[in-house]
Amino acid sequence: MDEKLKSAIEAKTDDLVALTQDLIRFPTVNPPGEAYTPCAEYIGRRLQKRGFAVEYVRGEGTPGDSDRYPRTNVVARIEGRRPGPTVHFNSHIDVVEAGDGWTVDPFAAVVKDGRVYGRGTCDMKGGLAASIIAVEAYLETNPDFAGAIEISGTVDEESGGFGGVAYLARKGYFSRPRVDHVIIPEPLNKDRICLGHRGVWWAEIETKGQIAHGSMPFLGDCAVRHMGAVLDAFEQDLFPALDRKRTAMPVVPEGARRSTMNLNSIHGGQTEDYRPGLPSPNVPDRCRLTIDRRFLLEEDIAEVKSEVTSILDRLKRERPKFDYTIRDVMEVQPTMTDRDAPVVRAVAEAIREIFDREPAYVISPGTYDQKHVARLGHIYDCIAYGPGILDLAHRPDEWVGIGDMVESAKVMAIGLGLLLDGKVD
Ligand SMILES: [Zn+2]
Repeated sequence: MDEKLKSAIEAKTDDLVALTQDLIRFPTVNPPGEAYTPCAEYIGRRLQKRGFAVEYVRGEGTPGDSDRYPRTNVVARIEGRRPGPTVHFNSHIDVVEAGDGWTVDPFAAVVKDGRVYGRGTCDMKGGLAASIIAVEAYLETNPDFAGAIEISGTVDEESGGFGGVAYLARKGYFSRPRVDHVIIPEPLNKDRICLGHRGVWWAEIETKGQIAHGSMPFLGDCAVRHMGAVLDAFEQDLFPALDRKRTAMPVVPEGARRSTMNLNSIHGGQTEDYRPGLPSPNVPDRCRLTIDRRFLLEEDIAEVKSEVTSILDRLKRERPKFDYTIRDVMEVQPTMTDRDAPVVRAVAEAIREIFDREPAYVISPGTYDQKHVARLGHIYDCIAYGPGILDLAHRPDEWVGIGDMVESAKVMAIGLGLLLDGKVD
């Protein structure tokens, strides 16, 4: 049976490439959320022709949603002839901006040397295309399949997924009994299973000062200098401490197998666009810093926050006139699916069959939509598995290998069959 399935996928190689190219040519850049509707409709039309019931669900009122930029998601479902579980393939259709440094047109979907080039090829339209081909080949070779199969194309993953998977999960699209197993074809490489991701805490810290004439700073209080003291304390105490924390989670790349924190942005004084070209004449009374703290399964979020606030509180005690506020911007708990979960075992078995070796189990350094599937949908049988090399995501000249897409489509189709047939429970 698998032989038939594998050759059906190979026979669809040209279709797979053409499908990937079509998807890339919708410039679904987020922000602002360009071309979501035509891209979703393209996927919907294709699956409708193959017997899927197709729904378009707009993430009404979610961040960025407007009549100009509607957050249009597509969810397609096909029922089998016998009762059984539901397997859901979820891909985000949004991509990040192209940026500079490309040697090809990022939205032309150039095919060269066995690769498709373009923004979103790797992250993650190549994975989306591979999952569609996997499902189509499975349906052709298994007309009597059990259970149900769903494919969704969702928006805004790159900006938190609020109008996409989070919205759908709140509406019941990612919960039992509707869905049992979820595979997210993010680019984690064709022979690796991604079990989850580290946690995230984004916060905005503001130091306070007092405005005064720049020629007499002693009459005011410089918020930027206070922030300088914060940064200095982070360098002395926080960064070395974070660096010492190691996790048992198999995070890739290796450098992310510890706690990390990025300083995302810093703004102090009047903004430069306030009066273009003219420097601010004042002592700044406010300085804002946004931090991006990635934490581990072994860490508690309360402890993660108090590491930062205890430094700020110490400065408040020790540094004259120091005052601050801190505001949570985003919080995501770390998540890791059990290795014995059915979806993990099914895909592992399929990887063994296609590559004749054990899969690697990894954890993503950053989050993706699995967080919403788990937290809002309460489905813990969820992994990321798909073609593409993670390091190429968001970079210029992003590409996905055609051979990799074909092989991972085979893995997805075989894994799908194992789950629907109840071969792993
Ligand atoms: Zn992605």
